Amino acid sequence: MAYEFDLFVIGAGSGGVRAARFAAGFGAKVAVAESRYLGGTCVNVGCVPKKLLVYGAHFADDFEQASGFGWSLGEANFDWPTLIANKDREIHRLNGIYRNLLVNSGVTLMEGHAKLTGANEVEVNGQRYTAKHILIATGGWPQIPEIPGHEHAISSNEAFFLKELPKRVLVVGGGYIAVEFAGIFHGLGAQTSLLYRGEMFLRGFDGAVRKHLHEELLKRGMDVQFNADIARIDKQADGSLKATLKDGRELITDCVFYATGRRPMLDNLGLENTAVKLDKRGFVEVDDLYQSAEPSILAIGDVIGRVQLTPVALAEGMAVARRLFKPEQYRAVDYRMIPTAVFSLPNIGTVGLSEEQAIEEGHKVQIFESSFRPMKLTLTECQERTLMKLVVDADTDKVLGCHMVGPEAGEIVQGLAIALKAGATKQHFDETIGVHPTAAEEFVTMRTPVKG
Ligand code: FAD
Ligand code: NDP
Repeated sequence: MAYEFDLFVIGAGSGGVRAARFAAGFGAKVAVAESRYLGGTCVNVGCVPKKLLVYGAHFADDFEQASGFGWSLGEANFDWPTLIANKDREIHRLNGIYRNLLVNSGVTLMEGHAKLTGANEVEVNGQRYTAKHILIATGGWPQIPEIPGHEHAISSNEAFFLKELPKRVLVVGGGYIAVEFAGIFHGLGAQTSLLYRGEMFLRGFDGAVRKHLHEELLKRGMDVQFNADIARIDKQADGSLKATLKDGRELITDCVFYATGRRPMLDNLGLENTAVKLDKRGFVEVDDLYQSAEPSILAIGDVIGRVQLTPVALAEGMAVARRLFKPEQYRAVDYRMIPTAVFSLPNIGTVGLSEEQAIEEGHKVQIFESSFRPMKLTLTECQERTLMKLVVDADTDKVLGCHMVGPEAGEIVQGLAIALKAGATKQHFDETIGVHPTAAEEFVTMRTPVKG
């Protein structure tokens, strides 16, 4: 059968745009449908605006520390509407770049909601199109538990467009988004409480990293509460919100921000018209080639719920485009050693195994760890400390994991990820000459194990 398109991509986010552009570049006839915003979550309500707000919040530290270097500043004032307007302008510019990228690479862009009407058919704006392959790249959506009063809470989607900075904020959750936004709100001057339901936030990260960040947030004056979970939220007569915790405590605030994970975006997608299956967690089930139970339909990115990070969605999009239209260049995505950063203040940067994971996987580990006051802070009152940690296999000398909490941790860990991917040993780290004076050089000068 002749199809109108070789590939129909649903969703112009990180993964969808990458797959569409590269498939078109390989000569395929490609369409992409986008219902909301070009560039998807990352560009509009994710990585990019989040990082801009983190930069904004970091100025509070810079102003405070400047006096140690002889600068005297007038009173610093922060204006939230200015930051949001400037952020919006930049996002608008990026939307335009995404549009050009798609159009210039020959992709047919359709702006509207796409619904699957069959194994090889999609409906957009009342029009049906046929395609040999269909790629679901519809991403995810914030998930707020349905407690009484949940309608008074906001998620990251709304936080980026608040008209004013709330005076008091309760941030609920203990993952990436909760920790990052708690840092943003606190840094910009809101009275911020971070509430996490478990014993210690950032489950899955190295234990030393979690503990270190917790200590640093407390030093900064953030109210961090563990074993704290909201049972209900009530709007008060004066417009404030009362959050009643499961242990009976009541907290009054102006904003309750939930960051309790993201569900796959499958709303009105028409999966019932296909044989596509979902996994136990409700994400689209795919095999190693991103193929769903319906052979003509593939899925990548957050909607498959493997690793919800933009560079992973990009890699998956690239893998699909290559496999379908340039098979001689196909390389499977390698999910080992994915570096990641949490843009908390201070940042976390991490790649490879945590100490706990390494032990669980049966490694005999050697741990190298260093906690120090960064040079930049020595002329200031700031008592923040940086943590660096290496997890090494005692038998093979291979470095299994690198972890850092401190300024620019994300920037530093990117290079280390290449070393770990190349199979670097602790000896390689030791034989590498440091860059002086930097914080990063500590990663090549830790000599005495603290454990093992
Ligand atoms: P998305 O980028 O979500 O794109 C999906 C697109 O599909 C959307 O544009 C949506 O409108 C569209 N769509 C959905 N349904 C339909 C339909 N039926 N028809 C047409 N279009 C449809 N990752 C990082 O690596 N680093 C970070 O710093 C980072 N920060 C983040 C901060 C926040 C607050 C959030 C929420 C996420 C962050 N992420 C970060 C995660 C990252 O944004 C996602 O992993 C990434 O965007 C996933 O890409 P995707 O292509 O799967 O989906
Ligand atoms: P995460 O899955 O990272 O964290 C969710 C948090 O919410 C966990 O602490 C979880 O606790 C808690 N939680 C889940 N359900 C409930 C509930 N019903 N009540 C109370 N707490 C609950 O999700 P996020 O929303 O923070 O982020 C989604 C994903 O987006 C991230 O996993 C990451 O992949 C990506 N992202 C990446 C960023 C980056 O690269 N810098 C930044 C932001 C997002 P528990 O641990 O106990 O289950």
